Amino acid sequence: MPTKRTRLTTEIKKKFSDMACELSPENLCCDGEASQANVKDRFEKIMTRWHGLEDQIGMKVNDEIINQWEEEKSTETICCDLCGHEYDRHIGDECPNCGNNNHDLFVEKFGD
Ligand SMILES: [Zn+2]
Repeated sequence: MPTKRTRLTTEIKKKFSDMACELSPENLCCDGEASQANVKDRFEKIMTRWHGLEDQIGMKVNDEIINQWEEEKSTETICCDLCGHEYDRHIGDECPNCGNNNHDLFVEKFGD
């Protein structure tokens, strides 16, 4: 059976971003109240989810990549699937240059 890969969607990017947040020392240690065993246990659980998601999308993800995603998202532009024209997402699904409907791209980049 061929490996079925999940497309890298905004939702998956958000999951990684959330996990990266959970992995921050402040969150893991609960301001020093959690025991070391507890912290280790939680760390391992998050990493298991992290690697599971990596397998799903077929790529390795690290902090640097997550930062890149955040930057991409903040550019707020859509690059037309058909003609490559870049335009402001607020214009909508339709490319002002060629009229192509980029709805799928839109959802992939910005979510529903
Ligand atoms: Zn276009």
